[in-house]
Amino acid sequence: MNLGVYIQVPFCQTKCTYCNFHTGVVSSARFAPYASAVQAEIREHKQGLGKAGVALLNSFGSLTVDTVYFGGGTPSLLDPSDLAAILNSIRDTFRTEFSEVTLEADPETVDAEKAGAWIAAGINRISFGVQSFSDIELKAAGRMHRRADVYRAVPVLHSAGITNISFDLIAGLPHQIRESWQNSLDELITLDSEHVSIYLLEVDEASRLGSELLSGGKKYSAGAVPSDDEMAEFYERARAELRRAGYGQYEISNFAKPGFASKHNRKYWRREPYLGFGAGAHSFSGAQRWANAHDAASYVQSVAAGRTPIEQLEDISSEQALDEELFLGLRQTEGIDIARLERIYGTQLEPRFAPIQASGLIERVGSIARLAPEHLSVSNEAFVELMR
Ligand code: SF4
Repeated sequence: MNLGVYIQVPFCQTKCTYCNFHTGVVSSARFAPYASAVQAEIREHKQGLGKAGVALLNSFGSLTVDTVYFGGGTPSLLDPSDLAAILNSIRDTFRTEFSEVTLEADPETVDAEKAGAWIAAGINRISFGVQSFSDIELKAAGRMHRRADVYRAVPVLHSAGITNISFDLIAGLPHQIRESWQNSLDELITLDSEHVSIYLLEVDEASRLGSELLSGGKKYSAGAVPSDDEMAEFYERARAELRRAGYGQYEISNFAKPGFASKHNRKYWRREPYLGFGAGAHSFSGAQRWANAHDAASYVQSVAAGRTPIEQLEDISSEQALDEELFLGLRQTEGIDIARLERIYGTQLEPRFAPIQASGLIERVGSIARLAPEHLSVSNEAFVELMR
């Protein structure tokens, strides 16, 4: 088993209306000090974890970091030299054998110089926040980029030598209709990226659009958001089109050409260990989960003062671990091995599965249980039933 490293960069150029992440629009003068704090946190991580009471397993020290993921936020806003310095701090601190180093990038932030510097730093995968190929939808969602930026950026990345690109699309943006969604899928498939993520719009109070959907208002075009049924139809359409185009679905939201499933993200669903650095970053050791303070300014201050930025630490009980195995395992199309889990956790799972199996939400092949493909868009129903 190897170790994943996640780097959180919580800065954006603007706040998208649907965004429910802890990210902020700040002066670019704050980027370099933040990157320095991340490097310091990485280099001093053993002391930081010790101060927070994290009990790292003995075997942890022998793990090799093979995946790194710069997420955000918009990490492509950072100067490439800062990204390179962060990667070097990982190389200096851990045993490393990088096989996948991903940078989340917004299309308008890409240029030839940056792309060349990303490759030189060791970044070999770009996760692109495309979200839609409709300028009307992009504008309503408050995105900075437009369709033309995607067409400009992709050849730049290819010329720089990046051969592993992922595109994200969101089903459920304001003004999305059946035809515009089909067009976004067609354009995405024509661009032939190695990996695709399809997300459904999340509706909660943490985003301006979500608040408007829940509480009313007209500022963020909540009235133009497709219905739940339409979103489910868009998702099913995406699954069918991507399958036809040669993408295999390996997780509820993720599709890849053969050999291009995300190695890093698979660690989350397989409950493999990862360390997160930066404001709001989460970590998992197998026995504990912990998280850093969300506020970027307090994070930088804590690290500079030699305090640990960790503000939440939780021991994972055996019941929680089992629930995570079920919830995360069922997100993956390979499903879960019920007999294996019963053996590890010493409990009977068949009675929990019987009702959802009878309702058709789950399909079985021997001991393997997985979400029925036709019910992937309503996976929450299965999870709710299972966790009762
Ligand atoms: S770019 Fe991503 S992280 Fe930043 S505001 Fe938009 S959705 Fe949120």
